[in-house]
Amino acid sequence: MILRQLYDAVSSTYTYLLADEKTREAILIDPVFEQCQRDLAMIQELGLTLKVVADTHAHADHITAAWLLKQKTGCQIASSVAISAEHVDMPLHHGDHFGVSGISLEVRATPGHTDGCNTYVLVDHSMVFTGDTLLIRGCGRSDFQQGDPAKLYRSITQQIFTLPDDYAIYPAHDYNGRTRSSVGEEKAFNPRVGGGANERDFVQYMKAMQLPHPKKIDEALPANMRSGMPADGQLPDEPDWADIRITFAGIAEVQPEWVIQNQPSVTILDVREEDEQEEPLNGLNNAVSIPLSQLRTRIEEVPRDRPVVTLCRSGKRSSLALGILKEAGHDKVANIHGGILHWKNG
Ligand code: FE
Repeated sequence: MILRQLYDAVSSTYTYLLADEKTREAILIDPVFEQCQRDLAMIQELGLTLKVVADTHAHADHITAAWLLKQKTGCQIASSVAISAEHVDMPLHHGDHFGVSGISLEVRATPGHTDGCNTYVLVDHSMVFTGDTLLIRGCGRSDFQQGDPAKLYRSITQQIFTLPDDYAIYPAHDYNGRTRSSVGEEKAFNPRVGGGANERDFVQYMKAMQLPHPKKIDEALPANMRSGMPADGQLPDEPDWADIRITFAGIAEVQPEWVIQNQPSVTILDVREEDEQEEPLNGLNNAVSIPLSQLRTRIEEVPRDRPVVTLCRSGKRSSLALGILKEAGHDKVANIHGGILHWKNG
């Protein structure tokens, strides 16, 4: 199985990609709206097909990418029946199994942080995706959104701590850089619910906590009840001046074919060194040539009236040139995927 743990630094959220190595079918757990392009780029670069997006609960701190991913890929949306969010294709009940061919997740209803919290157990790989029910050395708060510390205690101790000690715990957040734990570790060391704490200990602890109102809750909760669909139902704006793909490395790229067809409307910036300029390239006209090593000092030579697409031998140095152009105030910039090598063979 392929497992990737992805991080959104704004909300400290972990998104998990699970995929079957043979069928290449994939599941995303708790994707973040703003990270949709990143996640789709990874899925494409790994040769996967996204089939299912599953949220562990209705998040208060970020907007899910479920609806957006469904629009882009046709995947199905799964979440707890207790949330009854719009656009959900698979309302999940306690005890259900769902997934893709080769990967089956068991649903455990674990209310307490919210009423609609699910924990997903991957028995074949001894893993459990706990959402906010159990965090590493912590747990989700229980002071808003139908939160109930007694319910949370029972969910953790009866649905998660009853799993074998070696099961890996993957939570929905961590604010201190910790990436995974295990059932045995949390039973021993969780400062709220581990080390033999009983329900009373836990409830008193949780009730004594004073936490600030989540910043994004007024925006995130209504949006998440629509599975992350924006209020106007529109897809977010994307660069429309070119057929751009953002890679998993975060680089805006266009294909040589697009550049050949659209040469009059863009500036092609060739950043190869002078001694690399060989025979004229088929279909390439009027490129502005500034070697990468001189680009910072000669940046004023790059025309500002049109978008800029950058070119080098393999597409690596030209991707670095994008950053230099952006620093200089060029906002419509993209790298030509694969550079001269791909241009010739494409
Ligand atoms: Fe939460």
